[in-house]
Amino acid sequence: MTRSITILGATGSIGTSTLDLLRADRANWRVEAVTANSSAEDLAALAREFGAEIAVIGDERHLPALRKALDGSGIETAGGSKALCEAAARPVDITVAAIVGCAGLAPTMAAVEAGGTIALANKEALVSAGDILMSAVRRTGATLLPTDSEHNAIFQCLAGSDVTEVRKITLTASGGPFRTLDAEELKTVTREQALKHPNWDMGAKITIDSATMMNKGLEFIEAHHLFPVGLDRIAILVHPQSIVHSMVEYRDRSTLAQLGPSDMRVPIAFCLAWPRRMKTGLDPLDLAAIGTLTFEAPNEALFPATRICREAIEAGGAAPAVLNAANEVAVDAFLAGQIGFSRITALVEATLARYSAAAPATLEDVLAIDAGARACARDMLETSELV
Ligand code: NAD
Ligand code: MG
Repeated sequence: MTRSITILGATGSIGTSTLDLLRADRANWRVEAVTANSSAEDLAALAREFGAEIAVIGDERHLPALRKALDGSGIETAGGSKALCEAAARPVDITVAAIVGCAGLAPTMAAVEAGGTIALANKEALVSAGDILMSAVRRTGATLLPTDSEHNAIFQCLAGSDVTEVRKITLTASGGPFRTLDAEELKTVTREQALKHPNWDMGAKITIDSATMMNKGLEFIEAHHLFPVGLDRIAILVHPQSIVHSMVEYRDRSTLAQLGPSDMRVPIAFCLAWPRRMKTGLDPLDLAAIGTLTFEAPNEALFPATRICREAIEAGGAAPAVLNAANEVAVDAFLAGQIGFSRITALVEATLARYSAAAPATLEDVLAIDAGARACARDMLETSELV
């Protein structure tokens, strides 16, 4: 039976991997909506290829280009953040939430409000608004399928077990491209070096987050919301080969791990086919060729991001949303050549110290905190000696 799908962030790394899987399994899928932020031509080409019902561009300035590119195709077009949410609310069998950053929060929430099944890649939505998003999931009966490889691994290792049986969840981390450097060497790393991840091919923001270890910190918060075992039962372990994607230890000391190639098509396929399985066309994992799997403790003295994230989620309230907003500003500034690598986490920590707000109760509260914290972080970028 054909299934309907919407892809939020269709032109990105996760969106592209998702469409790759659909391409190999075309007869079984009907594409409802595809969205992007500004790449109108790319979005139009995907909408045509997959015969989407609607293509939505986030940045309205690119709507004329989208309209022109889809002229005569019969495919609906729309632009702006409200249109993204409307498209996300259309009933489908599965929505892939793959917009990067807090920009994905409102559309993801719209999909949750519609009560459907959501393959969630957009971790920043859970970091900024975890409590609000998870309570909407419970209220609407929506199904969240974790697409982030670690959380997908945990979901598989839990295999429906009650979280009260779990003693510990271990998130594995590659350690990023700078794992073996010292503090002095870390000060001079370049944008190009940071953009080269040893194992994964991903969008720019998450690649920088992996280099600072902020990605693992965000994933720690993500895991806390998805798998409420208690913060003290979620651990981080560096595993440079990225073959073990995460583990669950039960109270009888049995540990289950999920292994697979470092390719996001595996966890995405898991979500698309759930509760069944589908082919990915990938080569099988060849452990004899890989030979060695190693593990080491994270170095928080050198990479403070995981500590900052742990402190932010322990503090609760507005702190996780502030953390996420400051990190988005800091990563953009690093990518623009405005600040050095070590300043990314420094700016995040400084923003957390300076900006405070009441705990958010609604989506609008989170968006207001996000805007306020961004302004605060940008202000510090311009005025502070920190940068
Ligand atoms: P990407 O930068 O490659 O793609 C982002 C997508 O979001 C694009 O389609 C872009 O057009 C859209 N977008 C960006 N800003 C937008 C805005 N303001 N409004 C509307 N749309 C916007 O990012 P990615 O690497 O595919 O990551 C997407 C999400 O998935 C992130 O939250 C990331 O943390 C998560 N994730 C990615 C990977 C990976 O391997 N790439 C792995 C795990 C989790
Ligand atoms: Mg991950």
